[in-house]
Amino acid sequence: MRDAGLIFRPFLLIMVLMFKTRRGFPSLGGVAAEPTGWSSAKRRGGLAVALALALAFLGAGCAAPPPQDGKPQIVAAMYPFAFLAGSITGDRADVTTLVPPGTEPHDYELTPHQIAQLKDATLVVYQKGVDAAIDTAVAQSAPARVVETGSLVQLLLASSDGADTGEATGGYADDPHTWLDPNNMMVFAEAVAEAISAADPANAAAYQANLATLTAQLTSLDASYRSGLTGCQRTSFLTTHAAFGYLAKQYGLQQLAIAGVTPEDEPSPKRLAEIAATARSLGLTTVFFETLISPDYANTLATDLGLRTDVLDPIEGLSAASRGADYLQIMASNLEALRQANGCG
Ligand SMILES: [Zn+2]
Repeated sequence: MRDAGLIFRPFLLIMVLMFKTRRGFPSLGGVAAEPTGWSSAKRRGGLAVALALALAFLGAGCAAPPPQDGKPQIVAAMYPFAFLAGSITGDRADVTTLVPPGTEPHDYELTPHQIAQLKDATLVVYQKGVDAAIDTAVAQSAPARVVETGSLVQLLLASSDGADTGEATGGYADDPHTWLDPNNMMVFAEAVAEAISAADPANAAAYQANLATLTAQLTSLDASYRSGLTGCQRTSFLTTHAAFGYLAKQYGLQQLAIAGVTPEDEPSPKRLAEIAATARSLGLTTVFFETLISPDYANTLATDLGLRTDVLDPIEGLSAASRGADYLQIMASNLEALRQANGCG
């Protein structure tokens, strides 16, 4: 079906450019990016340019601009998977992340350009159940290779930590936050290395060497969690967003989540009262929020109970507020925060 792709691609381009007008025009063939708020005259002008470009591609028998540098194009749905792909490929592949830095991923809407990127990707790495729009787009664009991380590990039910199951997950019953267990990340890393080695066998040895380094780093992270969370005064922790079920299960902790698996699920007054009673009886010291969202109800709860607040980062995206420059460093910061809250060592 490659030939059909050649013919359809210019039309796809037209559609992409039409949809793109809300967010400004992409830079393409000398058409400069424009801010939002286009007049309809400008939009018509842009459409004419798009048509001309598409016809030029057809006339030249050329479907689309070739990949800029001939490198494998890896599309990671969100930061943790971009971290894996980047660690394994170094500068031998181009890695792009769909959810932009500092953006909460659970209700992210893809741009038409990103949907086109999925189609052309050498490899897509994502976790089903984080964002319904990404799940749909990956299914519809049928990229050459896909690593769906949730298919590689044992999934936990979203409700297993006692939090409300969020309807915002589109009826997805499993907890999607698999990346917060370093052991899961080792499994994902292996799958990513295998997929990219198959796509780019010339660099397979380098990918395997980088995989070995990454696996050693994740193994050491796992060991620091194991030893760091031994002999603590408490084993439960209170968080706004039920993102830490896999981490809790791996290291013998109990996650008490105020909201559901998506952080904007508002807890009911009944739920807040239950949480407050449990937090008191367990002698908890801290209400954890994440870096991307800090809901009012969590502040209120902390004030009411006289607890401190701190950050436990679900690593759904990097931001200026992240306590570390990469997955490994932020996981180390999370460990320190848990140790402090739970009176470890
Ligand atoms: Zn989440």
